[in-house]
Amino acid sequence: MHRVSVCRTPDYSSGVMERAVESHFQTLGLDSLLKPGMRVTIKANLLMKRAPDEATTTHPALVRAVVRSLKKRGVSAITIADSPGGPYTVQALDGIYAASGMEQVAREEGVSLNRDTGYQEVPNPRGKLVRNFQLIHPVTQADLVINAAKLKTHCMTGLSGGVKNLFGCVPGLMKPEFHYRFPEKERFCEMLVDLCECVRPAVTFVDAVVAMEGNGPSGGNPREVGLTFAGRNPYAVDVALCRAIGEPPASIPILRCAIQRGLCPAGAEELALVGDAADFSAVEGFAKPTPHKLDFSTNMPAPLRPVLLPLVRRVLTPKPVIQNNRCIGCGKCAESCPAHTIELRERKAVINYSGCIKCYCCHEMCPVRAISVRRLGLFTHKKDRR
Ligand code: SF4
Ligand code: SF4
Repeated sequence: MHRVSVCRTPDYSSGVMERAVESHFQTLGLDSLLKPGMRVTIKANLLMKRAPDEATTTHPALVRAVVRSLKKRGVSAITIADSPGGPYTVQALDGIYAASGMEQVAREEGVSLNRDTGYQEVPNPRGKLVRNFQLIHPVTQADLVINAAKLKTHCMTGLSGGVKNLFGCVPGLMKPEFHYRFPEKERFCEMLVDLCECVRPAVTFVDAVVAMEGNGPSGGNPREVGLTFAGRNPYAVDVALCRAIGEPPASIPILRCAIQRGLCPAGAEELALVGDAADFSAVEGFAKPTPHKLDFSTNMPAPLRPVLLPLVRRVLTPKPVIQNNRCIGCGKCAESCPAHTIELRERKAVINYSGCIKCYCCHEMCPVRAISVRRLGLFTHKKDRR
């Protein structure tokens, strides 16, 4: 049975967070993974330049607590890393490290921030769709990878937790290439499971003290959950996260794939939940992302899916809409669009919908929330507009 440790973590104060992370270490017996002198990379979710209280990035208090627990056990060669959205450059990384609070953690705790933008091909014999990945150096060169994720909704994949966080092990603008290569949600999520099998983090921590609900992973709203999660199996951790947000694991395509491959159980009741909050229940009315509310694929009879799904998706799948009054013409959406279907006209972004594959990378990367995700016509509701 997969063990997932769940701790009450009501706030980000250092005492509270350190107690929770220590408890995860002890409950999961993580000492056996560690050896003095080993190189450990903490792969945080540093999607974009946002302050910690915006709930878009892994909170620095979780990363600091993990660093302290590692140092207590004699591990000091620690690097904090991620390949955020957009170009993978030292300048972009430095801006995000400063905004997300990671720069302060690294300076005060005496650990490194990754500034090596190199990457390397890694074979993936367990892959179903992808048999080798290009992965960033701090992941390929580490003796141990610790996954430090954030609980968020996600417009495309439904949930951003432990497994989705690993997409940031793929360097910079190679990420949109995967969206273009696998425009269908199911296949994209199979690719994410392949990636997780390739990276194989030793342990996954999830910051769910304040999660993001609504149109995540960057356009939603902070929501208090008051928990942290940890486990050796990232899929099992995500199954537990589903319970916290009141979502059946089978409605999350990454988990559908993982369950089919026998990588995790189909429900939290089949996990060994441990820790002081093992009896946690769902947060009431946790808001789902707009596209997820219109995902009919799980309700449709299997024989009809190949015929009906493309039609239903074409008509009903919400689309990204630029709000001109908010757009500052930065071009980040165009830069991250895998279909190259966005251009700037008179310093405003314009989408050519004929090429749009509804991946929502543009929505995810807009720094000023100028792109909403909207249902069409009769299905549009004010609540879906930001
Ligand atoms: S929509 Fe957002 S990301 Fe795109 S150009 Fe405007 S402000 Fe930048
Ligand atoms: S316009 Fe936005 S949703 Fe459409 S393909 Fe480009 S990035 Fe994806």
